[in-house]
Amino acid sequence: MNAGLADRYAQVKAMLPPQVTLVAVSKTRTVEEIRALYDLGHRAFGENYPQELRAKQPLLPADIEWHFIGHLQRSNAKHVVHIAHLIHGVDGEKLAEEVEKRAAAAGRVCDILLQVHIAQEETKHGLTPEEVLQAVATWPWAAWPHVRCRGLMGMATNTADQALVKQEFTRLNALFVQIRDSAAFPTDQFNVLSMGMSGDLDLAVAAGSNLVRVGTALFGDRG
Ligand SMILES: *Cc1c(COP(=O)(O)O)cnc(C)c1O
Repeated sequence: MNAGLADRYAQVKAMLPPQVTLVAVSKTRTVEEIRALYDLGHRAFGENYPQELRAKQPLLPADIEWHFIGHLQRSNAKHVVHIAHLIHGVDGEKLAEEVEKRAAAAGRVCDILLQVHIAQEETKHGLTPEEVLQAVATWPWAAWPHVRCRGLMGMATNTADQALVKQEFTRLNALFVQIRDSAAFPTDQFNVLSMGMSGDLDLAVAAGSNLVRVGTALFGDRG
């Protein structure tokens, strides 16, 4: 079974140019499955649910870089902020403010991404592109010394229509480049574009992604 994991890990890595970070999405996976990938040398893992992250984190090596990629409710920020290396799904000013408050209390600076709604699906969270530009321009970033906006995250429509997925990723990349080049944030800070999952990581990378979040292509189908 671990031979299968090693093969899949090698295959996924072979698809990624060196500048693209691979986050292994470990939601619903056991501590043993995560440990097996860790033992192959992998360090960046992504979880969707605060309770699951809190349960697994103490059972696994301290040098794992945990990404929180799920939808974060304000009431759960306190459970995530002190563990997460990067929170991908920030989609509201009140949530960002709560992250600031909790990060200040924890005595750390928390890196976040703004989640952008790019899919043609009601179910995906995120800010519209217009709201993202507004957030960059009007949220009180200077008053939040414990929050660092590192970039954008988005999920494409779950569809076999590759042209649509490509268009959504291309638009997200254009928005990312627009904000980066506006120098609203230092350019060595605003430098993460999180897009691409198992089914569309090739399209995401071609469209400019530098961080992909991959679950099933590494661990197999979720039960
Ligand atoms: C589950 C999940 C992934 C990984 O999906 P796979 O199709 O298993 O690669 C990536 N990003 C987010 C936000 C997810 O919830």
